[in-house]
Amino acid sequence: MEEFFEQLFKSQHCVALTGAGVSTLSGIRDFRGKNGLYHEVDAEKMFDINYFNRDPSIYYNAARNFIYNLDEKEPSIVHTTLAKLEQKGILKALITQNIDFLHQKAGTKKVIEIHGSPAVHYCRECGSPEEPVMDFYQAAAVVKTGKMPLCPQCGAVLKPDITFFGENLPVRALHNAHWESNQADFMLVLGTSLTVHPAAGLPELTLRARGKIAIINNGETPLDSYASFRFDDLETVFSALSQQI
Ligand SMILES: [Zn+2]
Repeated sequence: MEEFFEQLFKSQHCVALTGAGVSTLSGIRDFRGKNGLYHEVDAEKMFDINYFNRDPSIYYNAARNFIYNLDEKEPSIVHTTLAKLEQKGILKALITQNIDFLHQKAGTKKVIEIHGSPAVHYCRECGSPEEPVMDFYQAAAVVKTGKMPLCPQCGAVLKPDITFFGENLPVRALHNAHWESNQADFMLVLGTSLTVHPAAGLPELTLRARGKIAIINNGETPLDSYASFRFDDLETVFSALSQQI
């Protein structure tokens, strides 16, 4: 672990890539894990754009108790330590697959969300994601009463700026993620099994550009044999790391 810290502190352009394993430490449930949400809600359906087009209440009813309660969740030691690493100038960018904005809540400034975010709700009839109609808190206040957030202009049901199955990934975020991965001389791969694209391909960009990667994940990943450092337990490593910075 000492060698890992040393490498981290001497890196010139460190980039982190985070997945669901980082969020579970904050009590946010994973989809696919042992206690995964797939057992209760049909996430394939709820995040499918075809279903949303037909009946947005499928999404809003399913999301009420795990997307629209995110205001009750707190950043973990991993989130706060990453924010500290950015403040110290060590971490240059953070790419996340998560849609829970806990990195921002912890204070990280440069967060690249490659699966979008529920922080923005927009109208698909008369607006775009660049013209948010409601933020997370405004939308959550409506959803918690059992209703759906509507556009004040045209009355259409708003859509969260989460990337649904069947939608294109956010172009700008993806471009930034590729750029940062190419620049990185050290990438921290945290809490992701690297099975879902495009995230799975990002550490490969770093490796191809002769950067090093560290993988901390509770479970195997396809890139384990290419990692300079490999740990299982995020909480242990980040508790120790937080003492060093
Ligand atoms: Zn509208």
